[in-house]
Amino acid sequence: MRKVSRSVPAPKDLGLVDVIGVPEGATVELDLRLESVMEGVLVTGTAHAPVTGECVRCLEPVERELDAEFQEMFSYPDADTRTARKDEAGDDAEDEDAFELEDDLFDLEPVLRDAVVLALPSQPVCREDCEGLCSECGVRLADDPDHHHEVTDIRWAALKDLNKDFGTDQGADENQEK
Ligand SMILES: [Zn+2]
Ligand SMILES: [Zn+2]
Repeated sequence: MRKVSRSVPAPKDLGLVDVIGVPEGATVELDLRLESVMEGVLVTGTAHAPVTGECVRCLEPVERELDAEFQEMFSYPDADTRTARKDEAGDDAEDEDAFELEDDLFDLEPVLRDAVVLALPSQPVCREDCEGLCSECGVRLADDPDHHHEVTDIRWAALKDLNKDFGTDQGADENQEK
């Protein structure tokens, strides 16, 4: 068993595209435990990385730190093992998902991608109680909590104008009297 720690730059599109993810090139800290087992190497680890995205309610930037956990078996590219597996599973489906060691190396990227996507919120919010944007004018309600509009029922809108005209006329009359 070996433990290794690595800091690697994030690959492109690590996360949910256009929603939230690890910025390309940001440092991903990996803590890995590599265990030699009969059929290959069992990799258990955690990834720590910054994520950025947009609040789905108010579109403000969201910044988080992400911890993703993963475990994956990387098998020796051994024909016997593959056949045995195929017989057990009864179809090829499992084989396609299986990871293999290549010249004593393993490619962690697809495993990291899956783990990061699973650990990310699919509906990120800037804060749990984010009220989003005003449906009338689009202002962010968290910035302006007392914000409100005079909501005029369309059926009263005409009367409101009448009122205004009346007020103006009255004012004009008063002026004339003076
Ligand atoms: Zn928000
Ligand atoms: Zn508004």
